[in-house]
Amino acid sequence: MTDSAPILIVGGGIGGLTAALGIGRKGWPVKVLEETPEFGAIGYGIQLGPNVFHMFERLGISEAVLKKSIVPKAVTMLDSVDGGVIVRIPTGPSFEHRFKYPYVVLHRVDLHQVLLEACKAVPTIQLVPTTKVHGFEDNGDKVRLFTNSNPIEGAAIIAADGLRSVIRQQLLNEGQPRMVGYVAHRTIIPMDQLTADVRREESVLWSGPGFHLVHYPLRNFTLFNMVAVFKTSTYAERGDLADYRGEIDRTYRDSHPAMKALLAMMDVGRRWAISDRDPIRHWSAGRVALLGDAAHPTLQSLAQGACMAIEDAVCLADLIDQAAGDFPTAFRQYSAARYVRTARVQYESRFMWDHLYHVDNIARDVMRASYAGKSDEELYNCLAWLYDGFALPKARA
Ligand SMILES: Cc1cc2nc3c(=O)[nH]c(=O)nc-3n(C[C@H](O)[C@H](O)[C@H](O)COP(=O)(O)OP(=O)(O)OC[C@H]3O[C@@H](n4cnc5c(N)ncnc54)[C@H](O)[C@@H]3O)c2cc1C
Repeated sequence: MTDSAPILIVGGGIGGLTAALGIGRKGWPVKVLEETPEFGAIGYGIQLGPNVFHMFERLGISEAVLKKSIVPKAVTMLDSVDGGVIVRIPTGPSFEHRFKYPYVVLHRVDLHQVLLEACKAVPTIQLVPTTKVHGFEDNGDKVRLFTNSNPIEGAAIIAADGLRSVIRQQLLNEGQPRMVGYVAHRTIIPMDQLTADVRREESVLWSGPGFHLVHYPLRNFTLFNMVAVFKTSTYAERGDLADYRGEIDRTYRDSHPAMKALLAMMDVGRRWAISDRDPIRHWSAGRVALLGDAAHPTLQSLAQGACMAIEDAVCLADLIDQAAGDFPTAFRQYSAARYVRTARVQYESRFMWDHLYHVDNIARDVMRASYAGKSDEELYNCLAWLYDGFALPKARA
């Protein structure tokens, strides 16, 4: 370690905290700046592929994450009209045998808590809430962040400030993310209030023309998480409860009765406009690097946005340590190591969005036929590029 000034991480989400943990564990001083008054996560579920457990093993938190997780029996895509199974990928023992680690679902708050507790146990990590970053300065041998309070100096900046990253905006000046014309509503209900006849032990995606609905269990099957996603011309507007309810009723009017029963329980008060960006090759300039959604925001089709942020974080921690204080070199090596994999996630997620999840008419028949008769092994092989994990760059001798 050559520099005693802290590495500044902007954003205490899943990506920022994982980066802090990876870097702090190697003895580097780290300061995490988070705009909200408390370090926390939005209160909904998250799915994690087995690829991310390679990283959790490195960080020593696999067991803590598993304790909070459910391993669903399968990831299943159903037809939104007739309820038929389009594809079912078993995620039980044969999946775990193939990919070494399980596929899990858990509450985001629980994952965030595991990361937060692990960070608090590392003396070199300082967590600074209520600090909104507005911009930065990189003068070659140190950096400065401008915030809602005093400027903060450090050795380097890692921007983990999400989809609307202010650091990315200053670095690349390319405007807002690309809106895809879809919105999401999310809800968690107590499992004992669930009356609909649905698969409670699986992660399910109901696919329909211009819409989908995802659900899975959480917290030892005491909670049930639902996400409704659909195309609407009002994606960029704010409506009231009645507008949102009316749109949902119209959009899903021909869908399966079980879906309608779920949608009746949907909290329509809050909606998110779905966005991503085109992949880019370079995620850094000098002593500033982007991470997670700030670097490669993706549609959620593969449920891999947070998983990619976690892989970024562990990779970056290794390269910073290997470069022993040469941040510009470490940052260049980091995006060179990561961009092809994350770009593939972005492209494949767009493909799935447009050609699997939301198709109609003949395209729908083609999509269904493409899955017909595929063995579990064949399905696993299709996912191997992703779920076999990311090979961290080897330390140079
Ligand atoms: C509907 C939906 C479902 C999804 N499901 C999955 C899934 O199942 N699995 C999966 O892996 N991914 C999923 N994702 C993607 C995942 O949520 C994101 O990829 C992930 O949260 C990115 O983490 P991050 O740390 O990069 O950014 P964020 O989670 O956005 O965290 C950014 C942090 O920075 C803080 N911040 C922002 N700006 C500033 C600032 N100027 N100053 C200080 N702090 C700031 C924010 O408050 C926040 O804490 C889903 C996304 C959506 C929309």
